[in-house]
Amino acid sequence: MSTRAQQYDATVRDRQQVTPHLVRLTLDVPGFTSTGISDEWVGLVVPGQFQSRYYTVRSFEAGRVVIDVVVHEVGLVTEWASGGSGNVIGQQVVLTEAKGSFLPPEDARWLLLVGDLTALPAMARIAVEHGDRLPVRILAEVPADSRIDGYFPDSVEVTWLALGAESRLAEVVEGLDWPEGAGYFWMAGESAQMRAIRKHLMRERRLPSTHYDVMGYWRSVTRRQPRAVDPGPIWRAGKAAGKSDEEIWADYDAAREAQ
Ligand SMILES: Cc1cc2nc3c(=O)[nH]c(=O)nc-3n(C[C@H](O)[C@H](O)[C@H](O)COP(=O)(O)OP(=O)(O)OC[C@H]3O[C@@H](n4cnc5c(N)ncnc54)[C@H](O)[C@@H]3O)c2cc1C
Repeated sequence: MSTRAQQYDATVRDRQQVTPHLVRLTLDVPGFTSTGISDEWVGLVVPGQFQSRYYTVRSFEAGRVVIDVVVHEVGLVTEWASGGSGNVIGQQVVLTEAKGSFLPPEDARWLLLVGDLTALPAMARIAVEHGDRLPVRILAEVPADSRIDGYFPDSVEVTWLALGAESRLAEVVEGLDWPEGAGYFWMAGESAQMRAIRKHLMRERRLPSTHYDVMGYWRSVTRRQPRAVDPGPIWRAGKAAGKSDEEIWADYDAAREAQ
């Protein structure tokens, strides 16, 4: 664990291009503590940045964490993971403490998981950790070149949906053939789609909120996200280095000017 509260210093150990749109990173994260929740995520701060982006802990063991990063057109982590600023192996990054949300109720007899590329890691880990007790069905909407053989356990029923110009996940969920009885519905993807789906689950399907979890993992905006500088890491690093408040805020101003 680093001196900064609730953060881990990590080193990129390995990088694999799984598909043209998905990069797998293995990170050495000494002291990493899992929440034990299957869809747990961490914030990732890449070198030279202050903002974090969230990534699912695809798997972990003994201080080693694997994340699968979607590389899309343009983005902070996308550019870094694509190698835009050089080979990432050996680089130092920061992870924030893990958090999770997946919580099936006791009476759940099945799991239905739906998502886009960004949701693949969480759906895979949920399937691995729960597939021996509950039947799992997965619907994954991905570009044609991103269907990955063996990504999910063999026991799971997987439907790959082709991603067109726009996501059709809201429509797909509205037309779903639901399993009988009580279960748990988990879904993640683009935020506007997720809002539409939450409405559908509440109003049409009338699912109790304990029986579903629908998360906006990313927001489709037409321009690059403004790079607001998060003062938190600068403040903690300054304090750890014994700097005065004035010195820390000067560091903060300098960081903002460098954007
Ligand atoms: C709890 C949680 C878990 C997540 N787990 C994962 C994970 O395991 N793997 C993963 O890859 N992502 C995951 N995400 C999504 C990821 O945090 C976002 O996609 C993030 O915005 C990517 O950062 P970036 O720096 O590449 O792009 P940003 O700098 O954030 O965005 C730049 C531009 O890219 C667009 N954009 C952002 N994400 C996407 C996308 N996926 N496809 C197309 N356009 C996009 C934005 O609209 C913006 O215009 C998760 C998100 C949450 C909240």
